[in-house]
Amino acid sequence: MPLSISIIGGGIGGLATALALRKHGFNVQVYERAQALRPIGAGLSLTPNGLNSLDAIQPGIVESLKQAGSQMNSLTLKRSTGEEIASKPMTIMEQYGQPVLSIEWSRLQAILASKLPPNVIHLNHRCIGFEQCSSSVEAYFEDGKTVHSDLLIGADGINSVVRKRLIGDGSPIYAGRMSWRAIIQYPHERLSPNSSTLIMAPDGKVFLLVDVGDGYTFWSAGALLADDSVCQRATDAKARVLEIFGEWTEPVKAIVEATPEEDIVERPICDRTPLQRWSQGRVTLLGDAAHPVVPSLGQGANTAFEDAYELAECLAHAPSIETALFAYESHRIPRTEAIYTRSAKEGDSSYKPDSETTLREMMKPSQINQDEFQAWLYNYKPGSHFTDDPGF
Ligand SMILES: Cc1cc2nc3c(=O)[nH]c(=O)nc-3n(C[C@H](O)[C@H](O)[C@H](O)COP(=O)(O)OP(=O)(O)OC[C@H]3O[C@@H](n4cnc5c(N)ncnc54)[C@H](O)[C@@H]3O)c2cc1C
Repeated sequence: MPLSISIIGGGIGGLATALALRKHGFNVQVYERAQALRPIGAGLSLTPNGLNSLDAIQPGIVESLKQAGSQMNSLTLKRSTGEEIASKPMTIMEQYGQPVLSIEWSRLQAILASKLPPNVIHLNHRCIGFEQCSSSVEAYFEDGKTVHSDLLIGADGINSVVRKRLIGDGSPIYAGRMSWRAIIQYPHERLSPNSSTLIMAPDGKVFLLVDVGDGYTFWSAGALLADDSVCQRATDAKARVLEIFGEWTEPVKAIVEATPEEDIVERPICDRTPLQRWSQGRVTLLGDAAHPVVPSLGQGANTAFEDAYELAECLAHAPSIETALFAYESHRIPRTEAIYTRSAKEGDSSYKPDSETTLREMMKPSQINQDEFQAWLYNYKPGSHFTDDPGF
């Protein structure tokens, strides 16, 4: 009998994992708390390491994603007054054989879900805990339902219930920055296809504009805020963004004003200290549940896809669940820890008063440390193992 595997969380990590496991013939079910997979106002940048992992999981899927998103070919850095600081072409495709692909989060989720049979994804299933014994694991849901399986994977994001029960290491750590995000169809002379623009002020505020395809723009704003509480009403969140960014160069004010308030996602930026183990017995973690990072390198989703491929390969080839989970962790923890450290460092420097110097430096064509790190990050080949300390 193939192993029965329950995945908690139908986000992009959980869905990619379901695809990877089904390819090996495992009996997989996904339990998602949301009542529907519906659009949320967010865009993502997928990088060569994440795209190569997705292609290894589901050959051909990257082509569908390219049709649905936008391949980045330029990055511009500006001051909040509108003055251009630097601009550079993006040559990632030439260097690594895959582009930086910006895509709507919900389109990515829909494409992943479309590759799974509909009876695999169980919506309206909020997991509240689990118990395991030597022969099986039982997941509990809010409505009283229980599900037995051979293996439970917590892919339930940064506030993971599975992690809480498995590790119990408290709440995520607030990085001192609040983010606001939305997607809107907004034609403007300063918004070009296949490009992204990062606008910044010297007091720890940034505003990013990214083309995500089909005439849609993803905007993401960030500011240092001591208080991590989010607004209770959508109108207040929008007012907060306009209060902070309303005097910035166009199209910042115009695009925020044009965005329906209910489409703006306000979220504190958080991470968690890396763990030495992600698994116990028949339960493991994946994606943000295992290794959440601040989004300064745009690697959360990309590394979730790496996890998905590796976990499925380990389960398909190891003689037991225990050895598979041990191999999975050994392959994944050193790499994700290095990405956590680098993300935290770059996140901190990007929001400091002298962040312009840092970002200007990053835009220079040859940054040995930067280039080496990028090559290590993007050259990741699914299936290759990173047990050695990469030295970053
Ligand atoms: C501002 C910002 C920008 C970002 N930009 C990028 C980027 O450019 N590139 C990139 O790679 N990453 C980026 N990320 C990170 C990326 O969004 C996450 O790393 C990624 O979504 C993690 O996927 P996941 O499936 O592990 O978790 P999630 O996407 O959080 O999915 C978890 C799923 O589990 C469900 N769930 C939660 N609890 C339960 C429960 N108890 N029972 C059942 N279901 C449950 C949730 O509803 C959700 O569907 C960004 C993040 C932020 C905040």
